[in-house]
Amino acid sequence: MESLSANFGSFSESIQQLAERMNPCVLCPRQCKVNRSKGQIGFCGVADMPLVSSVGPHFGEESVLVGSGGSGTIFFAGCNLGCIFCQNFDISHHRHGTKVTIEQLAQSMLDLQNYHCININLVTPTHVVAIAMAAIESARKKGLTLPIVYNTGGYDSVETLKLLEGLVDIYMPDMKYSDSAVAQELSNAADYPQVNRAAVKEMHRQVGDLQLKKGLATRGLLVRHLVLPNNLAGSFKIIDFLAEQISNATTINVMDQYRPCYKAGSHTGINRRPTLEEFESARQYAIKKGLNVLS
Ligand code: SF4
Repeated sequence: MESLSANFGSFSESIQQLAERMNPCVLCPRQCKVNRSKGQIGFCGVADMPLVSSVGPHFGEESVLVGSGGSGTIFFAGCNLGCIFCQNFDISHHRHGTKVTIEQLAQSMLDLQNYHCININLVTPTHVVAIAMAAIESARKKGLTLPIVYNTGGYDSVETLKLLEGLVDIYMPDMKYSDSAVAQELSNAADYPQVNRAAVKEMHRQVGDLQLKKGLATRGLLVRHLVLPNNLAGSFKIIDFLAEQISNATTINVMDQYRPCYKAGSHTGINRRPTLEEFESARQYAIKKGLNVLS
């Protein structure tokens, strides 16, 4: 198995800086400060090398990311959030996955390109971003040309994101909450609202509004917002923020697929699906504010 500390010397300066941010780990806003190259683990539960739960073409993403070949998804196990309603809790919380090296990850990206996927979609990459970016750099040298999608829960630090400039083409962050108390209760992240807004600003600074070519995304920002029952997500404030502080041409997917998973059934605020009225009021508000709302 590759040793993490021994293998970043041949990569670019920004990737070496990302690797340094793992030891002690300040890759994400948790700032656990564990030494991951020594096998220590922090909140995300992953030490030096990523755990990958699956690799393959995915046709369930937004249509602008799918095309005829599918989105080339790589699902990373572990997560830096603690959402009690997580739909992928076996991957994020129980960390079901296989340990991979940088070169194995690079080869997976090349395989997805060979399968005619239209992008490389890194799902939950925040806590393994140093290795993921090293793999992209390696795969680029071997012929990878697809756009890279950074598909994140949105709890990312600006300092880390700055090191991704030029490596990521499409940022697809969640914007989960407007309210600190709700973020603490549902995801164990009281600072999520301000961290998330700063991260989205940095993402937009790097790549701008979403650009399409023949109906498919090539570059830019695509925000995902999951409507929660009882307006617990603070949907209207998030929409206001995007329209007023990012761009009124921001592309957003207002999502209705919340259902009570994992531990949500025992939580009175989120133990049901949102009503059609709750969902439509958020979606119509985004349309009214002029955002580019995906259908
Ligand atoms: S990436 Fe993991 S270990 Fe590092 S600060 Fe975030 S949660 Fe902690």
